Amino acid sequence: MMDSSEFSNARRGLPSLDRLLNHPAVASLISLYGRDHVRVQARRVVDELRERLAADPPPPPEVAESAVAALPAVIAAAVEAALGGPLRRVLNATGVFLHTNLGRAPLPPAVARSLPPLLDAYCDLELDLATGRRGQRNGRVERLLTALCGAEAALVVNNNAAALVIALAALARDREVVVSRGELVEIGGSFRIPEIMAAAGARLVEVGATNRTRLADYEAAVGPATALLLKVFPSNFRLSGFVAAVEPRQLAALGARAGVPVLVDEGSGLLRPRPQPQLAGHPSLAELVEQGVDLACGSGDKLLGGPQAGLLVGRAALLARCRRHPLYRALRPDRTALAALEGVLRLHLAGSPLPVDRLWPDRQAHRARLERAAGLLGAEIIPAEAFLGGGSAPEAPIPGEALALPGDDALLARLRRGDPPVVGYLRQGRLILDLRTVAPEDDDALLAAVRLALQNPKSKIQNA
Ligand SMILES: *Cc1c(COP(=O)(O)O)cnc(C)c1O
Repeated sequence: MMDSSEFSNARRGLPSLDRLLNHPAVASLISLYGRDHVRVQARRVVDELRERLAADPPPPPEVAESAVAALPAVIAAAVEAALGGPLRRVLNATGVFLHTNLGRAPLPPAVARSLPPLLDAYCDLELDLATGRRGQRNGRVERLLTALCGAEAALVVNNNAAALVIALAALARDREVVVSRGELVEIGGSFRIPEIMAAAGARLVEVGATNRTRLADYEAAVGPATALLLKVFPSNFRLSGFVAAVEPRQLAALGARAGVPVLVDEGSGLLRPRPQPQLAGHPSLAELVEQGVDLACGSGDKLLGGPQAGLLVGRAALLARCRRHPLYRALRPDRTALAALEGVLRLHLAGSPLPVDRLWPDRQAHRARLERAAGLLGAEIIPAEAFLGGGSAPEAPIPGEALALPGDDALLARLRRGDPPVVGYLRQGRLILDLRTVAPEDDDALLAAVRLALQNPKSKIQNA
């Protein structure tokens, strides 16, 4: 807020544009948006206020003075509205680990810390330092994935949608791909299996019914034009009741008999089986390979816990065809993603803990953490469910505990606009903060932000 004594009194005139641009709250915008854009918005805001002050009858002096005092904040809001605010670090206290709106999986801190020196300089992305010859760009991550999944080979592209596109385009263009009607899913936005298929130039052959598909349905559909049998794991919904689907192992056997490759879209990038009951029934890429599936694909930024990427594992000959396809160049990941993916895959190899493991904390340690936070906030500890979320593994709840405080939409909004922004949720008139999706290192920042939002209803609200 601008101290009104610092500026000309509203009745005598408005602060000059230069003076406003030198105000700390406005000057700090210049490094984010450039002086020209800030000046344009500042002039617009000041002109608007001048018109309001010139109205007949004029606003009361207190109103005019507080409008002048608010100028820097209003200018900041105007610049943000015009050009967008900067991407911000957010504390996710929703208990939903994979939040598409919050960037899906957070990178493990050790991986994030390893990135800057690889990014603000050159790196041996495609140079073999031992021989001085050209190296394989994706060789590192693909060797690690191959080892982790027990596959013949691996291929990494920009995301899982791209993995499907390249597999379909390279292996099934102008030919038929057999898919169960129950698996013609929409993953989100414009990502629908039939549309991806059409974009890749493959012909969709639907088999079975929405709720039930049998092996015989696939068998009857396989013919000379069949290029691929595709199985897609439902990641964001669940069919229940009178349902039947063909297991990857059965489909792999049929594919082997018929000489047709089988591709399974596993979705979440789960590399190896995990013991948690919420993941039971969701096959890992390693299991799919072991079951004889020719190719399996998944995302890098879901359960794998890495950057946005698409992982394809399976038969070397099929992946070589994908790699030779002209689209491959268009779909390859950049070095930021490759560096992050390499770091995350090494943690998987080493069996190190990953952020997703926080969903299943050590009970006692977590209780102590909650009690400390509850004491500082005056919160209650109540039973609450966490979720993997984000269209990853099925939405099986993870029982546990969270913090509860009296709260409403206004408090949620103050938390979102705080520094750092905190995202929680409301349940039965209470604000719930689930620390299972917050790194323990962030507890103090979270507690400070929540206390501020509780104490001062006006704090940090910029666009009010
Ligand atoms: C998430 C998901 C995709 C899309 O993956 P992106 O990496 O977001 O492109 C495709 N298929 C399934 C089954 C998924 O769960």
